[in-house]
Amino acid sequence: MVTEDVTGHAVVVGAGLSGLLTADVLGRRFERVTLIERDTLPDGPPVFRPGVPQSRHVHILWSRGMAALEDLLPDVVTGLEANGGVVVGAPEQMRWLSAAEWFTGVRGTDYLSVSRELLESALRRGVVADGSSVTVLDRHEVTGLLPARAGGAVVGVRLRERGADGAEFTVEAGLVVVAAGRGSRAAGWLGELGLPVPVTERLDARVGYSSRYYRRPADAGPWKAMYVQGNPDVPRGGVILPVDDGRWLVTLIGQGEHQPPTGEEDWLAFAASLRSAELSQALKGAVPLSDAVAFRATANEWTHFERVGRWPRGLLVVGDALCRFNPVYGHGMTVAAVQAQVVAGRIAGREPADIAARTRQTQRAVAKCARPAWMIATGEDRRYPDTDGPRPGRLGRAQQDYLARVLAAANTDPVVAEAFFAVLSLNRRPETLLTPRIATRALRRRNTP
Ligand SMILES: Cc1cc2nc3c(=O)[nH]c(=O)nc-3n(C[C@H](O)[C@H](O)[C@H](O)COP(=O)(O)OP(=O)(O)OC[C@H]3O[C@@H](n4cnc5c(N)ncnc54)[C@H](O)[C@@H]3O)c2cc1C
Repeated sequence: MVTEDVTGHAVVVGAGLSGLLTADVLGRRFERVTLIERDTLPDGPPVFRPGVPQSRHVHILWSRGMAALEDLLPDVVTGLEANGGVVVGAPEQMRWLSAAEWFTGVRGTDYLSVSRELLESALRRGVVADGSSVTVLDRHEVTGLLPARAGGAVVGVRLRERGADGAEFTVEAGLVVVAAGRGSRAAGWLGELGLPVPVTERLDARVGYSSRYYRRPADAGPWKAMYVQGNPDVPRGGVILPVDDGRWLVTLIGQGEHQPPTGEEDWLAFAASLRSAELSQALKGAVPLSDAVAFRATANEWTHFERVGRWPRGLLVVGDALCRFNPVYGHGMTVAAVQAQVVAGRIAGREPADIAARTRQTQRAVAKCARPAWMIATGEDRRYPDTDGPRPGRLGRAQQDYLARVLAAANTDPVVAEAFFAVLSLNRRPETLLTPRIATRALRRRNTP
């Protein structure tokens, strides 16, 4: 039961990338924002925490995501670079074997390569700064939503302190944002309130990651990063990314039966079995700093909250809690940052009560941001024989064939490369690859992957 006026209080569930950025944005309009996180958040140097298990694997932030971060938290990218993050020009500062050929002599766009731990710690410092209206309640796990007595609205959350006696209590708020990541239970929480449970669309390419850190050798070569991609014939790949502390984060990727192992010898043998020996050779001179760890939950999943007919006032779902992508395309963080920008735009100049009254429209706007990345990931994943889910029809196969030609042309044609990377980095919509200028150049090509 709501006992005081909490209209000016917002709660954000989950202090990952999406929760942090959304809390920052809400802090501009709400008197108080409470960011509730089930992990213990480190005060000191960045460290791994179990709530974000994917942080042990390569993460790139495309130029669109970098621009969104800079817009929300000015100078954050510059600060990350000063602390060891590396901005990489893709593909020109890389060795990148695409699903077709090596990219050669073409330019694309930039991405930021940085450990997830350092990225989050910089965002936390920016968001929970002195004078900010955002406070963190860590070591607390949200267990459900608090409904308004009259129904039709969410007015807070139920939660419990981790490691304590487990007794539940409630925190009331005028707005609740769920940013609880891939394992979010938001759909079930709606059901517990007697509301329709949204459908989750799913396409699983059964992609697995296995990653470890290396000390970055001084004489690594003229490139900053390397990506040997798999393709439907050889669905095995590998990535070397420069990250903070003078390290390389190296991830091996496999699909279906080609899951990358974690044992030392098997891991190295997998690295040597890629479509090019270059990655394996590069590792020969490098000193490993950790054992390999695996990650398997990489399915594309979109929980369609925006389609729920009776959407409660005062509730939003963002980030991976809303839509999760196969990570090989590197889109989740960029989409989360763009969603925070969309929320900022929709709440600008509005009072908290008005913001809570409009969550249905905001939920739709936030979900819309996921569409381009969803199209890219699911479209590409359907190429792979081991992908679960519906096979493409004739139109789908024609699209795949066309995009394979675009990719092949992008390897060496600067005009197509520029257009291709603008789409891959989510700066432009996928449809822009259908213009006559790109089509003419792409269809001239004979060799496709
Ligand atoms: C292997 C892998 C590699 C990836 N690589 C890339 C990449 O290269 N580029 C890219 O852009 N994206 C990448 N992603 C996607 C990226 O990790 C996510 O899109 C991003 O982390 C989403 O942020 P989020 O805040 O929604 O979720 P998360 O970062 O997962 O954060 C969720 C937070 O919620 C907390 N939480 C969960 N439940 C509760 C609860 N009940 N109560 C309180 N707190 C709770 C968790 O502890 C966690 O802190 C990758 C993902 C994977 C799996």
